[in-house]
Amino acid sequence: MKVYDLIIIGAGPAGLSAGIYAGRAMLDTLIIEQGQEGGQILQTAEIENYPGSELEESGATLIDRMTAQITKFGIEKVYDTVKEVSLEGQVKTVLCDRGSYQAKTLIIAGGATAKPIGCVGEEEFLGRGISHCGTCDGPFFRGLEVFVVGGGDAALEEAIYLTKFAKKVTVLHRRRILRAARSIQEKAFKNEKIDFMYHTVIKEVRGDGLLESMTVTNVKDGSETEINADTNDGTFGIFVFIGYKPATELYQGKLELDEKGYIITDVDMKTNVKGVYAAGDIRQKSLRQVITAAADGAIAAVQAGKYIEEEVETV
Ligand code: NAP
Repeated sequence: MKVYDLIIIGAGPAGLSAGIYAGRAMLDTLIIEQGQEGGQILQTAEIENYPGSELEESGATLIDRMTAQITKFGIEKVYDTVKEVSLEGQVKTVLCDRGSYQAKTLIIAGGATAKPIGCVGEEEFLGRGISHCGTCDGPFFRGLEVFVVGGGDAALEEAIYLTKFAKKVTVLHRRRILRAARSIQEKAFKNEKIDFMYHTVIKEVRGDGLLESMTVTNVKDGSETEINADTNDGTFGIFVFIGYKPATELYQGKLELDEKGYIITDVDMKTNVKGVYAAGDIRQKSLRQVITAAADGAIAAVQAGKYIEEEVETV
């Protein structure tokens, strides 16, 4: 079986950036992506904090240009789902649904997935009223009422975005203090279509095919409130942005993870296994942004190149 210099798992900003750096360093590289290039950032309608981005930049347009860059460097790509990894020794094996691949080094950039609310009825209405993506599903709620769960940057940015379509957006947050950056909070407070319900979590969602009602709980006094769709509308939307869960099930027992499941690395993106690096949202870090993901990818690829040069015997 062919042994690549480097396999990158995941083609979000971290994986693509690693690909660009690996390509420039002439590493024989394979990127494995299970879905579409871009990962979570594809859901972002407007990016205004990635240096040098266009003035009207979306996640999709930024990813398009990053993807074009790795194509230019001739990086190989396969669309496949990783099932198992073998990390020990000088040749790492990545077993996927449709094939098996080997490399001297591995960069894990599989990102994280959206956390569910954990309320009764959630699974039934996921994709039928409950969404994790304003850009994808916002237009379905034109003229309807929408609820946004969460108090971080994502929740408030999406709430603002959703006012383009929804007649009213109510942010349900479990505390009184919002976690989002002050500038984003100010924008949301100024938006007349946005209301806030604090100390509130969703207990149950209901409906006959479409989402029609829900019960929310005030976590301070335990009181419950029924929220029903406007009779003229018949339904409403719930957009959930309460953080992410790292895609690290495959690495449990194989790599050192923190208590939340993120991969622990050093400043060079090295994990506790030689030749294995982690980059982007999947690793333990204090700031999860496109810019930090891209930086991680660059560092990991450079370190992978150094490791091959200095430590790997001919395989
Ligand atoms: P986050 O910053 O972790 O915020 C998650 C929010 O959801 C918090 O307000 C949290 O409440 C709430 N929450 C968590 N679990 C909950 C539960 N089980 N039930 C109800 N509420 C729950 O996540 P994020 O907003 O998705 O952002 C993730 C990362 O991406 C952050 O680093 C963020 O800065 C970054 N980001 C940046 C931008 C930007 O800069 N433009 C945009 C989007 C995301 P508590 O506050 O009570 O913990």
